[in-house]
Amino acid sequence: MHPQLEILLELQDLKAQKREMEEAAEETSLEIEKKVFRVKPEEAIEHLQEKIDEMEATLEPEVLKRYKLISGRRSRAVVPVLSSVCYGCFMSMPTSMVRTNDDFRWCEHCGSFVYFVD
Ligand SMILES: [Zn+2]
Repeated sequence: MHPQLEILLELQDLKAQKREMEEAAEETSLEIEKKVFRVKPEEAIEHLQEKIDEMEATLEPEVLKRYKLISGRRSRAVVPVLSSVCYGCFMSMPTSMVRTNDDFRWCEHCGSFVYFVD
């Protein structure tokens, strides 16, 4: 897999984790907080954000620009492609596109970064 794509997937996962924790932290009473979190949720969220910032800094400038643009609009910046369909917008990808994750691709329709799972 293309290294930049790997970073993007990891970033996406970290962000999803952070969102979940933020949601949980909002709903959490003190009693649940003690059980679920070994660290304070605010601290854990902060740590996640630090890691996210750190990883975003390793993206190539052009990739980072596109990534920021997409992640502002969508919850997922990287989406799978199954049977030549982009799962960001459900439009067909050009059949001429080589299905490899060694290259770095994005969908021409929605701009999402894509990876091929078939
Ligand atoms: Zn798309």
